[in-house]
Amino acid sequence: MKLLVILLFSGLITGCRGNSSHSLPPKLLLVSFDGFRADYLQNYEFPHLQNFIKEGVLVEHVKNVFITKTFPNHYSIVTGLYEESHGIVANSMYDVITKKHFSDLDDKDPFWWNEAVPIWVTNQLQENRSSAAAMWPGTDVPIHNTTPSYFMNYSSSVSFEERLNNITTWLINSNPPVTFATLYWEEPDASGHKYGPEDKENMYRVLKEIDDLIGELVHKLKVLGLWENLNVIITSDHGMTQCSKDRLINLDRCIDNSSYALIDLTPVAAVLPKINTTEVYNKLKVCSPHMNVYLKEDIPARFHYQHNNRIQPIILVADEGWTIVLNKSLPKLGDHGYDNSLSSMHPFLAAHGPAFHKGYKHNTINSVDIYPMMCHILGLKPRPNNGTFGHTKCLLVDQWCINLPEAVGIVIGALLVLTTLTGLIIIMQNRLSVPRPFSRLQLQEDDDDPLIE
Ligand SMILES: [Zn+2]
Repeated sequence: MKLLVILLFSGLITGCRGNSSHSLPPKLLLVSFDGFRADYLQNYEFPHLQNFIKEGVLVEHVKNVFITKTFPNHYSIVTGLYEESHGIVANSMYDVITKKHFSDLDDKDPFWWNEAVPIWVTNQLQENRSSAAAMWPGTDVPIHNTTPSYFMNYSSSVSFEERLNNITTWLINSNPPVTFATLYWEEPDASGHKYGPEDKENMYRVLKEIDDLIGELVHKLKVLGLWENLNVIITSDHGMTQCSKDRLINLDRCIDNSSYALIDLTPVAAVLPKINTTEVYNKLKVCSPHMNVYLKEDIPARFHYQHNNRIQPIILVADEGWTIVLNKSLPKLGDHGYDNSLSSMHPFLAAHGPAFHKGYKHNTINSVDIYPMMCHILGLKPRPNNGTFGHTKCLLVDQWCINLPEAVGIVIGALLVLTTLTGLIIIMQNRLSVPRPFSRLQLQEDDDDPLIE
């Protein structure tokens, strides 16, 4: 009897598993290695990451959002919004109305984050789903009164292993199940700033460590049986470019620093004038040929960086590799934040899992396109956003898409077939038209003299 019950029970469980395997909600792990410049992939060796890509997809360049800084770009990835729309417009901000300050060390006030709804919140609004986060910017803040069900308070001293352990534990053991998870790591950004991306020796070492962490991540997912059914996106927020003590823009040489407040410094400075705005603007405008100076209303539309109270009345945008300083020496050998059309500012994206093709390479997408793609994978209705789902269709197994080389091939093929058919028709017509005079002659009743006799 006992045996019968056990058999029946185990049969029931197997039956449930069998039936539910199709109805299980899709799961997605979003990983960011901060400051992973797109062309590191071409210039350094990444055996583990290349294996991941071989079985998945690669987007070689992700065009990120202006300004190409950490907090704004991480929030754009998870909201699909430009910075002017999600409100995290810099790593250092000041709100003139509330007189509140924001910095990467003081980021916990939901006021700054509530202009948008990140995907982990939307995911949790679905029945029977939860989200988990290991330190993605904003995940330890109650945005719209909601944090991920499982999260860690930010601390740069927590090891990658501990973050990974937490994430995998939550992915396995939670109820309701964790269907969306994020994992964030501070490198290679920290080393990129310290050494500069042109320091091949140090960057080689740092990037090898990153690749080993990716190896560790994949190994752990495989050992725990998560690998086959979990969708994993590995991406980053921005790239990095080399700076130099020979490329400094010293504002103190152009304007008295008591006439303005500097909310953010470099490479995009946010200037809040304390005297007449035009006066400050005129002095800054002629300060350096290696810096663009914009009144807020004149910021180029392509930056999508204008319509927000947190964007200051004047912004200064340094040319690539130039550093804005206040009568100081060079603070960092590498930096980012520059114009988002510069390829050195772009990260990459790699993805693996049941939602993605295998061995497919794609040239470029925008970072705001990642959000609608993630919503599609998770079956969530995306909130209004600046991304285009169509840009990511070629990456996904359940979507039909033609990329440019394929489209050109199809057009050329169709033209060839049409030309051949037209040629054949012309030849046939010519052949048929040869005996025509005979036919006509033969058909004429009054023509009683055959031509051949
Ligand atoms: Zn960053």
